Amino acid sequence: MAHIIVVEDEQELARLIASTLKEDGHTIEVYRDGQFALDRIQDASAAEPDLYILDLGLPRVDGLTLCKRIRQNHITPIVMLTAKSSELDKVLGLELGADDYITKPVSLRELQARVAAILRRVEMMANVGLANQDAAAIEQSGLRIDPVGREVEFNRTQIALTAKEFDLLYLLASNPGRVFSRNYLLDNLWGDTYTGFERTVDTHIQRLRRKLSVAEGVDERIVTLWGVGYKYEKPDTVDA
Ligand code: CA
Repeated sequence: MAHIIVVEDEQELARLIASTLKEDGHTIEVYRDGQFALDRIQDASAAEPDLYILDLGLPRVDGLTLCKRIRQNHITPIVMLTAKSSELDKVLGLELGADDYITKPVSLRELQARVAAILRRVEMMANVGLANQDAAAIEQSGLRIDPVGREVEFNRTQIALTAKEFDLLYLLASNPGRVFSRNYLLDNLWGDTYTGFERTVDTHIQRLRRKLSVAEGVDERIVTLWGVGYKYEKPDTVDA
C-alpha cells in the first residue's frame, strides 16, 4: 500500500479524501497550507511519498509551485485538483509534469480509481525497471531518453512529448526487442479505469513516431507487428 501526501486547504474535502484513501489501506499525510507542504517537499531527510495529490489554489504557496518544486528532484506521480476549467487550462498549458488531474467537485470514487490506476502503473514501471530515480538515460544513435527529467533529445535538440508518449517510448526503449501487445500497453499505461480501445494505443504510437521521425528524419525505431503489437529496435539492428 502507498504513502500519499494530500495538500488541500478545504478542511472537509481534505478529511474526506484522507478517510477514503485510508479505507483503501494507504497511509495519508495531509497539509492544508502550501508553505508547510513546501517545507515537507524540501526536507531531504523525509521519505518521498508514492504519490502527491495537490490542490491548485492553496494559502501562501500554490499547487503549481509545489508541482514544479517536486519535479526538480522527483518523478513521483502527481494528481492535481482543479476548481474550474480555466485552472485546468493552466495546468495543461504549463505542462508542469502532473500525471493526472481531477476537476472539482471531486468524486471520491473517481479519485480512488485514478489513484489505483496510477499506483498500478508505477508498480508496472518498477517491474520493468523504469521508475528508478537513479535510472540511467538511454542513449542510442543520437537519441537520448532521460527518465529522471522525462526529456527526450535527438542530437541535443529536445523533442516535446506528452506524458503518455514519453511513457510509451521509455517502456519500449527500455526493453528493446520485447513485443508489447496493445492490450498490455492499454492496461498498464492507461489503467483499467480508462474506457478506451486498442486504437488509442495506435494513435499515440503514430504521434510518437511522427515526432521522432520529424526530429530524426527516419522512422525506424518503433516496429509494428501486425495483429500483435509493438516493439522497439535499436537503430543499429534495424533492417536497412
Ligand atoms: Ca483550495
